[in-house]
Amino acid sequence: MGYCITAPPPLLARDAGILYTFAMKANYLMPTRILMGENCLRDQRAFLAPLGKKACIITGKNSARACGAYDDAVKALEANGQGFYVYDQVMSNPTDSCVYEAGAAAKREGCDFILAIGGGSPMDAAKAAAVLAVNDLSKEELFELAFTTALPIAAVPTTAGTGSETTPYSILVDTTGADGKSPRQGGPVKRSLGGPLLFPRFAFLDARYTRRLNRDTTVHTAIDALSHAVESALTPRASRLSDVLARESAVMIRDCFAALLDFPADPAEFPLEIREKLLLAASMAGMAIAQTGTTVVHSMGYHFTLDWGTDHGRANGLLMGPFLSWCEEKEREAAAAGTALAPRIPGLRAALGLDLEEFRGILEKLLGKREKAGEAELAAWGAAKMKNAANTYIQPTQEEIDRIFREAVG
Ligand code: NAP
Ligand code: FE
Repeated sequence: MGYCITAPPPLLARDAGILYTFAMKANYLMPTRILMGENCLRDQRAFLAPLGKKACIITGKNSARACGAYDDAVKALEANGQGFYVYDQVMSNPTDSCVYEAGAAAKREGCDFILAIGGGSPMDAAKAAAVLAVNDLSKEELFELAFTTALPIAAVPTTAGTGSETTPYSILVDTTGADGKSPRQGGPVKRSLGGPLLFPRFAFLDARYTRRLNRDTTVHTAIDALSHAVESALTPRASRLSDVLARESAVMIRDCFAALLDFPADPAEFPLEIREKLLLAASMAGMAIAQTGTTVVHSMGYHFTLDWGTDHGRANGLLMGPFLSWCEEKEREAAAAGTALAPRIPGLRAALGLDLEEFRGILEKLLGKREKAGEAELAAWGAAKMKNAANTYIQPTQEEIDRIFREAVG
């Protein structure tokens, strides 16, 4: 029997707290070994040994060194007798040219595997570089997934948000905007490539590396993880397998709200156990979206990042409240009209232990003053095609997308 979101789910409907699921099919892959704990890079370095003689360490410009992860990685490699080359030029929202440069460096230096250290940006860049190091591909071939090999990847997240360490996705900025479909022709677009080869073989989760994250990056990346958990449950591909991860991740992040709202002046004083919880929750939400993908919220948020430079997680957060209220409204309309649409918002509310208004109130406090868009921006975004609209359990019309944008930043 096929997966069905419209049939009434008599067995599961009474499970208050389950976000939603009525899955009869499963296709679950998560090949990443997660090694978590203080000093896991040092203590579990033996896992890196079979990956090859030489690593290409891929990082951003500063934070990997400043947070201690780089030193730990180098010590682990040296203790294993492995060599390394360092590419440390990854910027936030990595570009096509950056990943070509990193891939060429890994090839030129004869690296056998990639060791990504950083937030989502270095990890995503590293995944594309892993492909380009062993494949001679045009940009279109890269995005069309015209490859069957990639160097193995190990990932060390230093933010707690994207979950890229447990996903098979690499999100890149195509600076030419030449995806052939985008309304942003000529301007940069965010594009993703995804496939099993992009799953890191290993994810080393050591919360100490996130200790220096300031308030805004901590909050914004936490909101990114939360939006992965929430969005995963609101995709047509959600299943009990993904929901269990999404739900637990959402609950863990909810449990961190109070601490996030009370962020200390010195980031080092933010409790390490909360950072640890956020790091694991982010990886779990990554495991959920690895199965389901994200919704229209992510596609919409890319416009804020591209046009305003808004942090990725913040962009999702700005849209989350209006989007969830719209979902609830559609569910009410469907119920009133007797349409067969299994509601998911009640399960989400139950999982979070918050009603939508309370949840939106907390998000508002975390986000602070909202950005405001001009009419020209709103009109352009409202008319733009959103790639992940089709991956949303209720597909929004263009008018509804426009409305959500206007409520978020109008
Ligand atoms: P990021 O762009 O990787 O990093 C943001 C900033 O935080 C950078 O300035 C970085 O500095 C700094 N930073 C990183 N770790 C730090 C630490 N431990 N201490 C202090 N500063 C630190 O941000 P992100 O939110 O983690 O990643 C966003 C990217 O991930 C976006 O491109 C988004 O599209 C993508 N994403 C991917 C997935 C996926 O499944 N693959 C999912 C969601 C989002 P440095 O530049 O010096 O490193
Ligand atoms: Fe995200």
